[in-house]
Amino acid sequence: MALIVQKYGGTSVGTPERIQAVAEKIIQYRDQGNRVVVVVSAMSGETDRLLSLATTLCERPMPRELDVLLATGEQTTIALLSMALQERGCAARSYTGAQVHILTDGAHNKARILDIDAHRVSSDLAAGRVVVVAGFQGVDENGNITTLGRGGSDTTAVALAAALKADECQIFTDVDGVYTTDPRVEPDARRLERITFEEMLEMASLGSKVLQIRAVEFAGKYNVPLRVLSSFEQGEGTLITYEDEGMEKALISGIAFNRDEAKLTVLGVPDQPGVAHRILGPIANANIEVDMIIQNIAPDGKTTDFTFTVHRNDYQRGMEILQQTAEQMGASQVSGDARIVKISLVGVGMRSHAGIASTMFETLAKESINIRMISTSEIKVSVVVDEKYLELGVRALHQAFQLDQAATA
Ligand code: ADP
Ligand code: ASP
Ligand code: MG
Repeated sequence: MALIVQKYGGTSVGTPERIQAVAEKIIQYRDQGNRVVVVVSAMSGETDRLLSLATTLCERPMPRELDVLLATGEQTTIALLSMALQERGCAARSYTGAQVHILTDGAHNKARILDIDAHRVSSDLAAGRVVVVAGFQGVDENGNITTLGRGGSDTTAVALAAALKADECQIFTDVDGVYTTDPRVEPDARRLERITFEEMLEMASLGSKVLQIRAVEFAGKYNVPLRVLSSFEQGEGTLITYEDEGMEKALISGIAFNRDEAKLTVLGVPDQPGVAHRILGPIANANIEVDMIIQNIAPDGKTTDFTFTVHRNDYQRGMEILQQTAEQMGASQVSGDARIVKISLVGVGMRSHAGIASTMFETLAKESINIRMISTSEIKVSVVVDEKYLELGVRALHQAFQLDQAATA
């Protein structure tokens, strides 16, 4: 008898009819002899609705209260799904994160799971019930409700699968697997049968929202077999796995992009030791995460230009801080651009092949797309370009690297 943890995302439980369809799918798995634990998201759009409800009352709601509010989205769907299961004669029980002791740290709105007491879930399973757990939420050691960051239900599912030593964690969503790039942007994107944890982690951290980054990290760390599948169609989906001989020998596995970036520049900073620290120190103190960084010496040889990217939500605050720093340092000018995006190529094949970056730059040049920043690591190359070139850039690269065709060994 296999134990599987299934997660159904927002679109999959977006209407009462879809919840009924999910209930039927779960019953099929159970009838095949599996023990099933189900994690659900809030109905699609609900978390956004709750967020905007909060901001109509105050500009910056207290993170603790925001978590109390946001957690209601998932509490609704666990109850509805359990009712749908029971209505079909399937014994089921719903639990909030706190009820199954999903213990997290106290970082409201972006908490990390520390421990799960799987006892209660295990005894329900032993009694033949389907267990339905609210995704995205936990409880800290003081009993405060916490949430895990957007897309966090994926992480709840993987963490439960690890705690229960499940045979597989299945992420059911509105696409039938992980594609070479977001199929909403490139209709020729191709489903991957398998992708490595390492590549999936890069894809997720470079903007592919099909899986939350922490879910992939967790699955890699605890060796949880993880699969992405469609809620609406049959199929094998995509298995996220360790690298092995049987895998496609592609140079590039996928293209990720991130629309959430913004760029800040300070020009004409006196070039002295400690410049980077003086510019980025106040940014870090304001809890703003910096992604890419470029420093260039100006033609006069005495000053330097410094550019970095941050999350678009932090753009205004970052700009205010940078303006103050620039004044203190005697820099000549501060500028910024919130209409930029990052496009990245990801693939373990890059390790053993030169020339990927140059093909990337050539492809973008042919489309007259200006590259504003570049960064590389062992298995990825990222460029920052103007927002208006996102679709064109992704499609041109997809074609140039022939990602619509499976690689041959
Ligand atoms: P859920 O609500 O089920 O968690 P998400 O919206 O979080 O679903 O994730 C699924 C979406 O991820 C897809 O609809 C797709 O547009 C997007 N996506 C982005 N990159 C990829 C990719 N490489 N492969 C598949 N889907 C992707
Ligand atoms: N409901 C949360 C969100 O919209 C968590 C999730 O769906 O995974 O981000
Ligand atoms: Mg998601």
